[in-house]
Amino acid sequence: MDPAPILYHGSCLCGAIRYAVRSEIKAVSHCHCSMCRKAHGAAFASHGSVPTAAFSIVEGAQWLRQRSSSPGVTRSFCGQCGSPLTWQRDHGDFSDWTSFSLGTLDTPFTPRKQRHLYGDAVPAWHPLHGTQPHAGGTGTP
Ligand SMILES: [Zn+2]
Ligand SMILES: [Zn+2]
Repeated sequence: MDPAPILYHGSCLCGAIRYAVRSEIKAVSHCHCSMCRKAHGAAFASHGSVPTAAFSIVEGAQWLRQRSSSPGVTRSFCGQCGSPLTWQRDHGDFSDWTSFSLGTLDTPFTPRKQRHLYGDAVPAWHPLHGTQPHAGGTGTP
């Protein structure tokens, strides 16, 4: 059987790592938790999720570095430029899914739905501070 067609391409800042997504992107979220803020060096992290089998590193796998940010949660990033790439949980309902940084997509993508996580943690230096963006919110940050 032929593999499913590649729907999306992505890469890190330096281009050493390239990945392919062979699935529609689900569960688009903007996470304001302190770990995502640190990991991305930004006000929040925007992720999309796909079944892990549909996400493949097609170039530069040797540059991929991984770190567990909390028990059972692994984040990967490019060891050369530092771009955060993926987020995975090894337990629970979505342990066979991979979340990846939407900011690293090279293919245009328009989500049908998106939500904010930990919206009460938006730092004072971001314009969304105090607006309590919520799960289920459709606002574009
Ligand atoms: Zn890189
Ligand atoms: Zn988070």
